[in-house]
Amino acid sequence: MKNTNPTSETEWKDKLSDDEYQVLRLKGTEPPHSGKYNIHDEIGNYYCAGCDAKLFNSESKFQSGCGWPSFTEKIEDDAIEYIRDKSHGMIRTEVVCASCKGHLGHVFNDGPKPNYIRYCINSISLKFRPESV
Ligand SMILES: [Zn+2]
Repeated sequence: MKNTNPTSETEWKDKLSDDEYQVLRLKGTEPPHSGKYNIHDEIGNYYCAGCDAKLFNSESKFQSGCGWPSFTEKIEDDAIEYIRDKSHGMIRTEVVCASCKGHLGHVFNDGPKPNYIRYCINSISLKFRPESV
């Protein structure tokens, strides 16, 4: 597949909405309980809002109550990259889209059994399509 991702921040600004740019490129966080996918239980797949890479599916989504869409599993092993994040006085693991490096959210180890993983992802970083998973 041809890589058509923008190569400069100017191009990203043109491609994304202001809100998307704020979260995906500047690592912002949408306010809790504000995102359109926080309470959302349709069957389908969630894609990167920056580059359309498939990231999560509805089978791994769960209601964590944290205020952001939460997933227990990514869809493909190489869909997501992890970055150690020491901002805001905390040590967390940031998750970014592997193909466009867009900021998605963070991953925590307080999720449900059996793997205890909780991907806490901004709705703004995702685009949902109703599809069979
Ligand atoms: Zn992406």
